[in-house]
Amino acid sequence: MADLDSLEQNPLLATSGLPDFAAIRPEHVVPAVQKIVTEATEKLVQVEAQLAPTWEESLAKLEELDRPFEYGWKPVGHLFGVKNSDELRVAYETVLPQVVEFGLRASQSEPIYRTLKQLRDSAEWGKLSEAQQRIITDRIKGAELSGIALTGEQRERFNAIEQELSQLSTDFSNHVLDATKAYSLDVTNAADAEGWPSTLRNLAANAWNAAHKDVATPATPAAGPWRVTLEFPLFGPFMEHCRNGALREQLYRAFVTRASTGDLNNEPLIVRFLKLRQEKARLLGYKNFADVSLARKMAPSVDAIRKMFQDLRSAAWDAAVKDLDDIRQLRASRGDNAPLNVWDVAFWAERLREERYAYTDDELRPYFPFEKVLDGLFQLLGRLFEVTINQQTDVSVWNPDVRYYRVHDAAGKQIASFYLDAFSRPENKRGGAWMDDCLGRRKMGGQLQLPVAHLVCNQTPPHGDTPSLMSFREVETLFHEMGHGLQHMLTKVDFADCAGINGVEWDAVELPSQFMENWCYHRPTLLSLTGHYQTGEPLPEALFEKVRAAKNYRAGSMMLRQLLFGMTDIALHTEFDPTGIESPHELNLRISQQTSVLPLLPEDRSLCSFQHIFSGGYAAGYYSYKWAEILSADAFSAFEEVGLDNADAIHLTGQRFRDTVLALGGSQHPMQVFKAFRGREPKVDALLRHSGLAKG
Ligand SMILES: [Zn+2]
Repeated sequence: MADLDSLEQNPLLATSGLPDFAAIRPEHVVPAVQKIVTEATEKLVQVEAQLAPTWEESLAKLEELDRPFEYGWKPVGHLFGVKNSDELRVAYETVLPQVVEFGLRASQSEPIYRTLKQLRDSAEWGKLSEAQQRIITDRIKGAELSGIALTGEQRERFNAIEQELSQLSTDFSNHVLDATKAYSLDVTNAADAEGWPSTLRNLAANAWNAAHKDVATPATPAAGPWRVTLEFPLFGPFMEHCRNGALREQLYRAFVTRASTGDLNNEPLIVRFLKLRQEKARLLGYKNFADVSLARKMAPSVDAIRKMFQDLRSAAWDAAVKDLDDIRQLRASRGDNAPLNVWDVAFWAERLREERYAYTDDELRPYFPFEKVLDGLFQLLGRLFEVTINQQTDVSVWNPDVRYYRVHDAAGKQIASFYLDAFSRPENKRGGAWMDDCLGRRKMGGQLQLPVAHLVCNQTPPHGDTPSLMSFREVETLFHEMGHGLQHMLTKVDFADCAGINGVEWDAVELPSQFMENWCYHRPTLLSLTGHYQTGEPLPEALFEKVRAAKNYRAGSMMLRQLLFGMTDIALHTEFDPTGIESPHELNLRISQQTSVLPLLPEDRSLCSFQHIFSGGYAAGYYSYKWAEILSADAFSAFEEVGLDNADAIHLTGQRFRDTVLALGGSQHPMQVFKAFRGREPKVDALLRHSGLAKG
């Protein structure tokens, strides 16, 4: 056991200011988190014993329980992502189950559930603000969806279903993983590797070497041999660049039949999943699993989602037909008139892309030095939302490259701050990009705690005298994460459970992030981010036009592909009958007739590797990608309508966006928030126009 002295110096037990990131060591984790969990569990027992159906005697006390976790547990999770080590992983895994157990105990507490329901039905209810009512309603719903209102046999059955679903989910993803590993295709003929980009050659030669450790002559990227697998970084580029159609066919067939035979066959698991989810929905009093999913989302009904699918489908179909014609034409012009197969599409689409918009990341990077991009972004935020952003250098951080910025309002008052961890560090930092909350806005004992955000990217670091030069995708990613960060930081809500991104329905949460990405295609904004790192010259017009045109390349085909996933997901969770004669694959093929200009192979078993809806969190939720795109495009179109180059009008619209979408967060239903900003419900028009799919 840690003695008292060391606990006093443990930075994870601080309860004010910013977390002391530089001082946190893996050995601090277990003693601090165990102390926090033990004390919180004791306090939870006290709270449960003294509950009364008022805000002060229920939720206010529960909010206080959260706070030590904000200082003692959140930073651990953060460092797990950005400064990982074996020691930290062991410490993290030691305490994780205790933290999870405490969270479940609090969210599924029966006395709390009963008290909150009493409060909802009492005269007190009318005295609460809308934000407080949302917090309580959401908490009640969350508890009910975890089966709290069930009793006796029904409760037992519900728990058994949950357990089995959790096991199915693990088995499903293990099968996909094992099936992916079990397959490989060796390419030994150098002619078949002609035209491959160097990244594909490197990866494929490495993959061959990893499988042939003791050979005298290892593979080289230039001369092979090469091994291609079903991992996406190899599969994707191979389908785009391998000239040998017979090899593409082999790999494609293997890809769409992954985990569909023998011990690794996911088909029976899919049927079982759907049967259990249906039963779970009925136990909870819903018609089907899609209704369970929608109970805590913005989309009002399955019908509204189906209408969205049809609107998008009818706009995308003709464009997708033309996409395919273009490919056939190019292929014919190069002397190939054989019928087009599904495994030919990616290859010829890539040839056409090269012909039309060829530019490489490396051509663009010199125009996007990191400092210039940041400066342009901060100025845009000033113009839109009246905030100024200033770096502060004397703050404790986990890596010398990490920066800390304060955000001030028009009156010069600090309202928020954020850490920016921009560069890739493969040795200890997870890939990808994300925004996370460090501290949430909340009022505690009359004191206001300001929100603090983490913005994490993985862009190219500086090298010698060369600054960090960003690819266009990296610029978009920075804007995206800043959009999430703004919703966290510009919130005006004082209750942590619905301040910023908290309490925002899952299918609405990408609104501010995708909204910000739109600015990367606005010419003056984009040019303000550019200045060649050696000459200061802005991005040349011709390159900008290529970037803009390439954005919508094959937009109709891409749209239909996403619709196939979304429509199949909804159909499986509404109309599919696990005891009926149509199998899940047949259902998928039937839906694909509406979404696939070139028919899928009859033996296509892609559902067997559709992890989003079977082992990810997207069951009856895949539609959210498109739903959120409609919201963000429509929000951006409010700016287009007043004229993107009209500074005064943009300023006013920006303020309205700040005061609604960014300020209200989860304190109101997202449809209400959207209408407060836009003056009406969302429409698909802007998304179609931005994707080049609008008719007429
Ligand atoms: Zn996002």
